[in-house]
Order: sequence, then structure tokens, then C-alpha cells
Amino acid sequence: MKIVMLGAPGAGKGTQAKMIAAKYQVPHISSGDIFRTNIKNGTELGKKAKEYIDQGLLVPDELTVDLVIDRVSWDDCKNGYILDGFPRTIPQAEALDAALKKSASGLENGTKATLDFAINVDVPDENIVTRMSGRRACLGCGATYHIIYNPSKKGDICEVCGESLVLRDDDKPETVQKRLSVYHDQTQPLIDYYTSQGILKTVDGTQDMNDVFAAIVKILEA
Ligand code: ADP
Ligand code: ADP
Ligand code: ZN
Repeated sequence: MKIVMLGAPGAGKGTQAKMIAAKYQVPHISSGDIFRTNIKNGTELGKKAKEYIDQGLLVPDELTVDLVIDRVSWDDCKNGYILDGFPRTIPQAEALDAALKKSASGLENGTKATLDFAINVDVPDENIVTRMSGRRACLGCGATYHIIYNPSKKGDICEVCGESLVLRDDDKPETVQKRLSVYHDQTQPLIDYYTSQGILKTVDGTQDMNDVFAAIVKILEA
């Protein structure tokens, strides 16, 4: 099962991707988490990516595509994966399709060399800014919480790994506005891209997170 999560920043892609990954036992691959780990570890890639991320801009495709395409070639991805935050541009989507096609020759009978679903978690812009200002992130393990909708039982500490939770710099309202406009310009065209491939499924992301998940499971098991 190969799934791509689409939706505005803060729509709930990561929240749902983690739930899908746990239920179906496939890895959750978040390009944002990969960048944040690199920033935390002070790598060259992290330094370059941070300049863009802090401004609410996309990291250039040259720094992003090979990184993610390499990750999906790992052994743990052979039964599928959930991609969260990638692709975010048409060239990224085309690169993923090309890599899938190239890997097709090595596949056993019955294994598809294409994506199964692009799940679009639909949330209007008006709801996004409040969601983002309440998001708390763990830079240790990638867990996310919300101060009202999904608080950590340990307050400011991650339930999973015990690190302190933070409000990401790019989740402050000024940067969120920029990220939303970048989303509409560069990422929203992927909705048409995957619609024309016949794999786009839209769910109402304004519902309670468990109801969003139930809607996704229904799609995956239809
Ligand atoms: P969110 O989950 O709020 O949408 P992410 O964690 O996916 O945010 O991404 C955080 C930032 O990392 C983005 O605003 C962007 O700068 C960068 N980023 C993540 N994935 C990509 C990508 N596929 N292409 C370009 N930039 C990316
Ligand atoms: P994305 O990966 O799309 O940027 P997240 O999954 O990180 O989004 O969710 C953004 C914030 O909204 C987080 O604080 C998360 O806990 C919260 N959240 C996610 N889904 C819902 C929902 N259905 N209702 C309310 N809050 C939600
Ligand atoms: Zn953690």
C-alpha cells in the first residue's frame, strides 16, 4: 500500500499518517521530520533547509527529491509506505512516478509499481492558523500534539520519548500565512495531478481526528 497525504500545512496529514502507519504496519515517511532531524543534528542539509523553512518557503526540489526517493527504496518500504509532506510540487510528483516506474522491473508479480491512493485532507484556511498556534511538536521522535484537541498527558513533555515539546518557529501566525500561500501556489496543483491519475480521495479534515481516520480506513478498505 503506497499512499501520499495531501493537504494544507496543519490539515492533519501527519496525525492521520501516523494512525494509518500503525494500523497497516507500513513506515510513515515525513519529509518535514527528515529536515527537522537534519537541522537538530546540524548537518549541511539541515543548514541549507533551515533558511527556507524559517521563511515559510519550500526547500528546493534539488535538495528534497533525491532524499525522499532514496528513503522509499529502503527495505522497510517493500510492502508500502505513507508519504507525508512529499510530494509538494509537480516536479516532485513526477520524480516519484518516474522512480516507481523504474523500480517496476524488480517487482514480483502482483506488486503494483504505482501509488494506490492520494488522500487529500481538506481543511479551509480559516481553521489552519488556530490549529497551528496550538500545535506542539516533539523534535525527538516527531510526535505532534495540540494544546486543546490532542494534549500530551505529560503537559509540555512528549508522552512517547520524554523530550520537551516546542511551538515550531514556522508555526507562528506570520509564517503560517506565507506557508498557506505557498501551498495554494505550488502544492494544490497536485490535487488535479492525482485526480487525473484516478487515485485522489478527499476527506473532510475539519471533523474530529478519529472520524477523519474512520473515513480514510473506509477508503483504503473499499
Ligand atoms: P506541515 O506538516 O506543517 O505541513 P512539514 O513538516 O511537512 O509541515 O514541513 C515543514 C517545512 O519543511 C515546509 O514548510 C517546507 O519548508 C519544508 N518541506 C517539507 N517537505 C517538503 C517538500 N516535499 N518540498 C519542499 N519543502 C518541504
Ligand atoms: P500536518 O501534518 O498536515 O501539518 P498535523 O497532523 O501536524 O498537520 O496537525 C496539525 C495540528 O492540528 C496538530 O496540533 C494536531 O494535533 C492538530 N490536529 C490534527 N488533526 C486534527 C483534527 N481532526 N481536529 C483538530 N485538531 C487536529
Ligand atoms: Zn517525542
